[in-house]
Parts: sequence; structure tokens; C-alpha cells
Amino acid sequence: MNKEYEVIIIGGGPAGLSAGLYTSRARLNSLLIEKGLVGGQITDAELVENYPGFAEGISGLELGQLMHQQATKYGLKTLLAEATGIELKGEQKVVRTTKGNFTGKAVIIANGSERRKLGIPGEEKLTGRGVSYCATCDAPFFQEKPVAVVGGGDAAITEALHLAKFASRVIVIHRRNQLRASRILQEKASSEPKIEFLLDSIVDEIEGEDVVKKIKLRQVTTGKESTLDVAGVFIAVGLKPNTDYLKGVLTLDAAGYITTNDRMETEIPGIFAAGDIRQNSARQAITAAGDGATAAIYAKKFIAE
Ligand code: NAP
Repeated sequence: MNKEYEVIIIGGGPAGLSAGLYTSRARLNSLLIEKGLVGGQITDAELVENYPGFAEGISGLELGQLMHQQATKYGLKTLLAEATGIELKGEQKVVRTTKGNFTGKAVIIANGSERRKLGIPGEEKLTGRGVSYCATCDAPFFQEKPVAVVGGGDAAITEALHLAKFASRVIVIHRRNQLRASRILQEKASSEPKIEFLLDSIVDEIEGEDVVKKIKLRQVTTGKESTLDVAGVFIAVGLKPNTDYLKGVLTLDAAGYITTNDRMETEIPGIFAAGDIRQNSARQAITAAGDGATAAIYAKKFIAE
């Protein structure tokens, strides 16, 4: 595989794929590096209803595949590997990966974020044995069984709505008395009879030997403790940026996100960031795609100059 490119894009979600579409159409020799499934986090979504152009919605997996096909058609190359670091060699940027080093004149960092963990006893031990971070992937295992969803954002409510198609009961547990999720999702969840809400409540522990049996709960205002029998716990408490490999290369904010200007430029000339990995990203597929296109346009300018 060729080791030298004009643009190297790290991450194959909507941001990276849109960047790849734009750089390839600009006839820049471009390599996209993805460690998992092309499409990124959106592939977990059963139905994406807020990406313009798909009036009836589209599965996240299909949307990712279509974006990849479209960019590949114009010449984007894809490498399935994990990026492990970036080094500067004069004007060149060397991207280290699990499959060797690749050099680019410009780099677009678009490898998003991953689900945050709760960090409570039982969570790690029972992951894959009742604890899950993806209802689209695991909901069918909980046919007619009670499950809990932890979190109060769009992801938690989307997960709860999906789980309601399978589980006997879906209990959404949120640490405050107000959900963060958008009104439209809250309305949908409120009209779903299988979904219940436990507000002002925290999960302290997940219990079970081989599989999840129950969770220990604490009411925040009264401090009262209780247990709840569930077969599954779906954790949807936000995202953590995948920037560990960039420590010492770029300045990250306190939460680990990359700061850019409105051209998606980072503090290092020729290194751009796009999508969920950016500070203050709106974290939607459509905004990530927009970031990717912007980064590509300014990467092209950077190379030309
Ligand atoms: P989010 O909006 O940051 O919400 C995270 C939720 O988890 C919040 O309710 C938060 O509580 C709670 N939380 C955080 N840490 C916790 C902890 N340690 N213990 C208990 N609860 C905790 O994250 P998200 O729901 O994953 O969504 C991420 C982004 O993707 C958002 O921009 C969202 O709009 C987008 N998204 C969109 C859709 C859609 O449009 N259909 C679907 C999924 C995701 P507080 O509210 O108290 O902070």
C-alpha cells in the first residue's frame, strides 16, 4: 500500500467520510484510516430520521455504507487500522497506525468519540452479560424481560424506545429530575406504555454472578436505597472523545476535545479536526458531515499554498 498521501483522514464516520468525498473530488490523493466499521457511531442507529434527504429515515449502517461508496467512487483509499500517534517531520505529518506509518501533507482528525462508562461495581464484569452500550445491537436478547436504561439524553431515550419493542418493561433511570433529551423524543417515550421513568436516581451497583440480576439504586434527594430486578442495563451517559493518542501532539480541553477555529484548523498548520472530536460540536451526523467538508476545503487550500 502506498505510504505517502496528500491528505490523511483519521476516522470513518460522517465527518471523515465527507472529508474524504471532498478531498477525493478535489483530486487530492487521500487515505482514510478506520479502526472499526466504516460509518462510525451512526452504524449503531437503527433508523436515522434527521439526516436530510432521507424522508422516511435510513438505517445508520446503510447511511455509512452509502457515504463510503460515494467517497470511494472518487478515489478515496481506506485502510482498516488504528491510528496510534501523529509526528511532525518538517512540513510532513507522519500518522502511526497498527499497520505501519503513513505520511500526509495534511491530516484531518475525525475519529469521534466512544460511549462513556459509569465506573460502578459490576459494570465491567457484566458487560456483554446483561450490561450493554448498544440497544440496536443487543435488544433482541431481552425479549419479554425487564431492562433499565441509565441516562437522560437523546441516546438514552432512543435506546429506551428501541428496547420497548422487545422488553417487558423499560425503566429509564436519570440522575436529575429533568431529562436532557429533545422534546420530540420525550413525547414519544411518554406515550410508550412500556417505558417508565425513575428520576433523581443513581445506579450504585450492578449485581449478578454470570448475568445481570438486579441493580442497587439511590434516590438523590432522600438518599433512600433500593434494588430493582432487571435482566439488562443499557448505559447511555454520553460520550468520551477518542483523543488519548493525541496527548502531547495537540492541546486538548479539560474533557479531552480538540479546539479548532471555524475552518476546522487546529493549532498546528495542516492538522484539522472535524465532527464529535471537536470542542462544542453539535454531535449530529449532519453537523459532523459539514465539519468534514469544511476541513477538506481548507486542507486543499493549505496544500495549495
Ligand atoms: P448527552 O446528551 O451528553 O447525555 C448524557 C446523559 O447522561 C445526560 O442526561 C447526563 O445527565 C447523563 N449522565 C452523564 N454522566 C452520568 C453519570 N455518571 N451517571 C448518570 N448519568 C450520567 O449524551 P448522549 O445522549 O449520548 O448524546 C450525545 C449526542 O448525540 C447529543 O448531542 C445528542 O443530541 C446526540 N444524539 C442524537 C440522537 C437523535 O437525534 N436521535 C440520538 C442519540 C444521540 P445530565 O442530564 O444530568 O447531565
